Amino acid sequence: MSTLADIISCISDYDPDALPVARAKEVIRSFVTPISGVETLSLRSSLDRVLAEDIVSPINVPAHDNSAMDGYAVRAADLASDKPVALLEIGVALAGKEFNAEVGAGQCVRIMTGAVMPRGTDTVVIQEVTAAEGGHITIPPGQEHGQNRRLAGEDLRKGGSALRAGTLIRPAELGMIASLGIAEVSVRRRLRVAFFSTGDELRSIDDGGRPAGEQLGAGEVYDSNRYTLHGVLTRLGCEIIDMGVVRDDPVLLEAAFRKAAQLADAVITSGGVSVGEADYTKQMMAKLGEVVFWKIAMRPGRPMAFGRIQADGNNAYLFGLPGNPVAVMVTFYHFVRSALLFMMGRADTEPPLFPVKAQMDLRKRPGRTEYQRGILEHRNGEWTVRLTGAQGSGILRSMSEANCFVVLGHEQGNVKAGDPVDVMLMDGLV
Ligand code: AMP
Ligand code: MG
Repeated sequence: MSTLADIISCISDYDPDALPVARAKEVIRSFVTPISGVETLSLRSSLDRVLAEDIVSPINVPAHDNSAMDGYAVRAADLASDKPVALLEIGVALAGKEFNAEVGAGQCVRIMTGAVMPRGTDTVVIQEVTAAEGGHITIPPGQEHGQNRRLAGEDLRKGGSALRAGTLIRPAELGMIASLGIAEVSVRRRLRVAFFSTGDELRSIDDGGRPAGEQLGAGEVYDSNRYTLHGVLTRLGCEIIDMGVVRDDPVLLEAAFRKAAQLADAVITSGGVSVGEADYTKQMMAKLGEVVFWKIAMRPGRPMAFGRIQADGNNAYLFGLPGNPVAVMVTFYHFVRSALLFMMGRADTEPPLFPVKAQMDLRKRPGRTEYQRGILEHRNGEWTVRLTGAQGSGILRSMSEANCFVVLGHEQGNVKAGDPVDVMLMDGLV
């Protein structure tokens, strides 16, 4: 296992006090490793889990050549390209009930969608273009050899790789696996993630918090970060360990970090990494493991701690996020999420960015990455984006109103209304 110091020494122009987003992601990605635990689940319970092994198709899907339409199964060799042809109807093939005889020259079989192609036939003519008279079916010219026929194995070929390890099992995969006749799948165990909020000013609604509407004491705020983290981690499918609020007290904090390291694969904290507070956190982390403190060239966000801590022989990756509620969500989505997905064994971890037209001018300083909160909407025949209101890092409403991030890259400067900007949909992010 390489150390964080090793990894950092390989990063060119590493500056912890002005670290570009791409560099921070690079360090995180190089340091975290996927969990190895695997479990076998019944197909339905594997929804939203990550495949631990490739699935090799034990059969051809479909198993037989079959019809894609209702109509007549014919021999293309019998048809003429310039005039109608009359064929003798000798039987019917239904889905699940094959026509079990050879079809000879000049003959055809009525066939339903999904029915196995009768021996000798290779083409299906849809019912609507045919005419039946006295036991004969008239087929118009212009049919193509092999039309309206599904070939055995055209969806999945026997012995071929149907799904790769690292694939997220979504509804489509459930159906695909079922179509192979497989009832149990091997998936990675759930990732265990512990999290807590730090801060003397925090009140918790579920731990001596005051009923809604009652006044907070001077300087107090309700702890909201633990709720957003509960939400994102639950939706990511993690096994969550909510450790509550921990006061800004080195002894209590150290105990909390030790417990988290014992219990979890990853630990996420909020608060306590900003300039004023980082000093004692740094001293404590030096005792617990290897943790670096960064000022990332981004907005919102900036301060963040990352590393690995140990307790009782168990290791946990640590993500020390800033305290401001929007900064927590932004750093979670843009750093922690993909790291956790990678730890879960997912092959794909980066959500797509795509350009749309900015509805308004956007102010942006080159030299940092910005994640502004946007509303993607269809206007005058095209997709456009505008910002939600105030973009302060404490204004959680800007996240709630948004349906996308407007991602303004490190080098990007001001944006003019009408210019394209990259957006990242929040829906796909959970
Ligand atoms: P810190 O990073 O600890 O200096 O916190 C930065 C700001 O975020 C302060 O205004 C804190 O009160 C606020 N904050 C920290 N933790 C939370 C939390 N769990 N819920 C809501 N606000 C918080
Ligand atoms: Mg604090």
